[in-house]
Amino acid sequence: MILGLAQDSVYQEHQTGEHPECPQRLAAIAERLADSGLVSETVEIPPRMATTEDLSRVHTLEYIEHVKKLCASGLPALDSGDTSICADSYRVALFAAGAGLEAADKIMEGHIGRAFAAVRPPGHHAEATRAMGFCLFNNVAVLARYLQHEQGLEKILVLDWDVHHGNGTQHAFEDDPSVYFISLHQWPFYPGTGAEWERGAGEGVGSTLNIPLPADTGDARFLKLFHDKAARAMDDFQPDFILISAGFDAHRADPLGGLRLTGEAYVEMTRTVADLSSSHCQGRIISLLEGGYDLDALADCVELHASELI
Ligand SMILES: [Zn+2]
Repeated sequence: MILGLAQDSVYQEHQTGEHPECPQRLAAIAERLADSGLVSETVEIPPRMATTEDLSRVHTLEYIEHVKKLCASGLPALDSGDTSICADSYRVALFAAGAGLEAADKIMEGHIGRAFAAVRPPGHHAEATRAMGFCLFNNVAVLARYLQHEQGLEKILVLDWDVHHGNGTQHAFEDDPSVYFISLHQWPFYPGTGAEWERGAGEGVGSTLNIPLPADTGDARFLKLFHDKAARAMDDFQPDFILISAGFDAHRADPLGGLRLTGEAYVEMTRTVADLSSSHCQGRIISLLEGGYDLDALADCVELHASELI
């Protein structure tokens, strides 16, 4: 499978000061993918900015304008205060949301089979009207809607294995059965949502699957639930396209997360998702980077993950 790779210095221009979600994360990934030779096995996905129309399928126009204004104003943080910004953050966030869209076009045109986007700022905590948890725009949610509206696909599956619950993504699709959202995450933990009983709303009841896990959960328990619940649900849903919110902060070395995964867990999950994508959607997967704050563990996990996507 030909793997597209979105990585570019533009994603490092979102300067966050003394903050775990820092540009060095992408530098560590870039260095590792170059040293391991993986970059030479991939096809470059050039940067592209999401348009207001792309973003407005998930966010309100008022919120988009609010982010633009606050970044330009020189304020150090957005909304909840944990989302650091600089004057360039709005522009970089448009590129972060656009990477998946460019990857989607390349996949649907047949140039590549799958893609991984090493972009920041991350997206899965961003709500329709609010930044939070280091996220400005919800990259994966914007991409899911793009696939439906611009590529004519119907059933999109979003798998989120970041250690934090993807509240923004869940809320974007909770009443919509055409997007199935699965999250494995530490719980109770930030951001507080993601209980097992949250299964969707209205017509979307049953198309949200939360798999909350207590602190200190390791590979064996995590992978058992992944196979028994998440993989089974993915198979039953029969998606037209699979998106991964690929956070690597459930790794045992991560300074923010409290789970205890090793790199092997990401290998096994990626392999399983790749097999499912081959069964249901011609192998189509786009994986977007979310969290992961120990630079060595992040680089290790991304290398393993990307290798399994090829
Ligand atoms: Zn996270």
